[in-house]
Amino acid sequence: MHDWQALIRKRDFPMIENAQCRGKTVVYLDNAATTQASRPVIWTMENYYMRQHANVHRGVYCMSEEATAAMEETRQLVAEFIGAASPDEVVFTSGTTQSINFLAEAFAASVLKPGDLVLATEMEHNSNLLPWLSACSRSGAELALVPVTADGELDLEELGRLLEKKPKLLAVCAVSNVLGTVNPLREIAEMAHAAGAAVAVDAAQAMRHGLPGVCSLGCDFLSFSAHKIMGPTGSGILYGKREWLERLAPPHTGGGMVSSMQWPEINYEDIPLKFEAGTPNLAGIAGFGAAIEYIQALGRERISEYEVSLIKYAEKRLSGIPGIQILGSPAQRFGALSFTVPPLQAYDVALMLSAEGFALRSGRHCANLLHEKMGVSASVRLSPAFYNTKNEIELLAAALERLLAAAKKAGVPVGGVKNG
Ligand code: PLP
Repeated sequence: MHDWQALIRKRDFPMIENAQCRGKTVVYLDNAATTQASRPVIWTMENYYMRQHANVHRGVYCMSEEATAAMEETRQLVAEFIGAASPDEVVFTSGTTQSINFLAEAFAASVLKPGDLVLATEMEHNSNLLPWLSACSRSGAELALVPVTADGELDLEELGRLLEKKPKLLAVCAVSNVLGTVNPLREIAEMAHAAGAAVAVDAAQAMRHGLPGVCSLGCDFLSFSAHKIMGPTGSGILYGKREWLERLAPPHTGGGMVSSMQWPEINYEDIPLKFEAGTPNLAGIAGFGAAIEYIQALGRERISEYEVSLIKYAEKRLSGIPGIQILGSPAQRFGALSFTVPPLQAYDVALMLSAEGFALRSGRHCANLLHEKMGVSASVRLSPAFYNTKNEIELLAAALERLLAAAKKAGVPVGGVKNG
């Protein structure tokens, strides 16, 4: 274990260091689902409720002014974190899912016409698929999918062919939440823009990876959730290029986004407030800011380098265990690795590992299409973060070896069978 890691486990993530469940030490390896909040995040949220709690943008009294200033500070932090040209391009939401639904609804209302085309990919989380399906069905547009290769990469040749049909938008994840595939976003954005398509990036799994800034990446929209970067649940953002946000009508309306009204004529606030109807999740936004400061202080380069080394180690170790089949073999993996142990059910494997203290996800991880494409009905997913260690991966590998040996002894034909 690195010195910095021993320190942060003890000081900042007591849950990772000390959690026990049914008498076993918990090894938490479900970070693609949610990461543990760091202590500074928890303190910041507590401090918000103890000292600052008041509604924003409305009061002229001190606490409201402070709460407004704190929220706008976080907006500035997010803008710097993602490399946006201005904090006005950052809209607070409850998380990636709401950001994408918001964007898809706005596109359906302001951009898409019958006969238009939208592209998504077979690799997407349902949160980056279903909102577009719904937007297309509402507007009469068509949704087409960029295929995934057997290795678990996006088929860029096929993307090129689909782009010839001049889609209005391409929705694509930066990192797959199942395979960990890191998509070549710059190249993809260049291809899409050359064809006149806007690019919306689902960066839910990518923000610890040190994605290039949105300006240099050239994407038009980007969404992510605070709880994937050691922040609180219920807080996230939608980034949109200024020209886009100014053009799109707000899909949600209500208090806090009206600048003037001469009934029934309504003028909205400028961006980003025109997209933030209602009272925002102020404690969540405060915690979001603390999470960004925490990640920045640790350094995304260091985090990324270390997490990539963990995933590589896991891939090497698990692929050496006869009977384990790892899904895909993308050139670059980050954050997640999924596998099957045929003919055992993924659910049963995760349950047996859970009895030994391992917190892993089983199922389709909200990526039904991708599982179908990879020819499996479900998988077990391991997703380490920077507070995990090689030793924890080693403990998991040893537990899997024990599980396979026990299955063999019981007459289950594990090893050497095809995925199913
Ligand atoms: N997109 C991807 C790639 C994800 O991994 C997830 C969550 O796991 C989401 C979207 C949805 O994020 P949230 O549940 O925070 O809205």
